[in-house]
Amino acid sequence: MKLDVNVLRYLSKDDFRVLTAVEMGMRNHEIVPCELIDRIARLKHGGTYKVLKNLLKHKLVHHDSSKYDGFRLTYLGYDFLAIKTLVNRGMFNGVGRQIGVGKESDIFEVVKEDGTVLAMKLHRLGRVSFRAVKSKRDYLRHRSSYNWLYLSRLAALKEFAFMKALEEHGFPVPQAVDCNRHCVIMSLVPGYPLVQVRELQNPDVVFETIIAAVIRLAEHGLIHCDFNEFNIMIDDDEKVTIIDFPQMVSVSHPNAQMYFDRDVECIYKFFAKRYNMSFDENENDSDGLEVDINEVGRPQFSEINKNSGFLDKELAASGFTRKDQDELEKLIEGELENHSDSDDEGTADEEDEEDINNTNVKQLESLDLAKEDVNHQTGDDKHDDNHQVGDEN
Ligand code: ADP
Ligand code: MG
Repeated sequence: MKLDVNVLRYLSKDDFRVLTAVEMGMRNHEIVPCELIDRIARLKHGGTYKVLKNLLKHKLVHHDSSKYDGFRLTYLGYDFLAIKTLVNRGMFNGVGRQIGVGKESDIFEVVKEDGTVLAMKLHRLGRVSFRAVKSKRDYLRHRSSYNWLYLSRLAALKEFAFMKALEEHGFPVPQAVDCNRHCVIMSLVPGYPLVQVRELQNPDVVFETIIAAVIRLAEHGLIHCDFNEFNIMIDDDEKVTIIDFPQMVSVSHPNAQMYFDRDVECIYKFFAKRYNMSFDENENDSDGLEVDINEVGRPQFSEINKNSGFLDKELAASGFTRKDQDELEKLIEGELENHSDSDDEGTADEEDEEDINNTNVKQLESLDLAKEDVNHQTGDDKHDDNHQVGDEN
């Protein structure tokens, strides 16, 4: 997705006020009625309507008049709200080139005033997963254009919380800097994803480091669930950094064993194919590279001394609770099982709208996000800019 941040400069205080009003209205409306937006924004002399036109022109909102006259946020509109909040906090003041298009995210470089470059990950949960789970999950049968907003936000909060906790436990992960809405700011990892690295000086060392990390994660009660050559970064010194955490699960998850084995298998397969390593324990020829891990064999989930309390203790501190984890796990279960790499830019089908609304309300209640302040992400709301807008409803 193109992110023309120049538009940011042309947006006035009123523009953001109305955009925030649309966001607030989306807590309990898929399409926010114009009158409600106007009531929340409280601009004088019908100003809201003029502003909405401008927001529409910049594709920050989507207009829908199929049932009543109303608007909803677009990804871009949500991006701008998050970016504006983070800029106001002084996290960065410029958005640079796009460095990654993930399955369910867009990643950009952002620049701080002192020139430091960070990575900004905008979560797009729902871009793929709703289609993937559609046939499996009854309660997600009806995707809607606004579930993604809450789910993306929850995914970002989860990623931020995990990154922070993992970093504190000495795991090789990016430094978690800040989080707002569906947006995570982290340190920029030098190097490239493993998938792009044609040659390694010491593939066996890299391999062992990676396998040791999967084992250590499990010892800390966690399984990455998307542990592969796309989510492992390698720098010039062949240092390993693990990224991409929204799908992590606890070792107490019912499918933990399967996820763990799959993560391990991905790494074995990749190193066998790309670096011609041989892992067959019965094989005697020495065609492949010598790998120490052969001597002990593949890591067995059952043999790992797992501390499953990690999630509860460590993550809650970042505002991501066990309940959030359970909810998100349930909602992205299909995605986890499918593990599909296919990209699908599809947006919501305009399906049975009444059902969509019912699903949304149920999901929002269970996600427990509807009651919260939309800006209240990291437990630190002293920077919130929502106070510009009057009381909702
Ligand atoms: P997704 O969940 O959509 O797969 P990822 O977190 O894996 O998103 O990021 C997608 C791509 O963006 C990565 O493969 C990597 O190339 C790049 N990327 C992500 N985070 C960083 C970072 N902190 N530093 C540098 N590049 C990054
Ligand atoms: Mg990824």
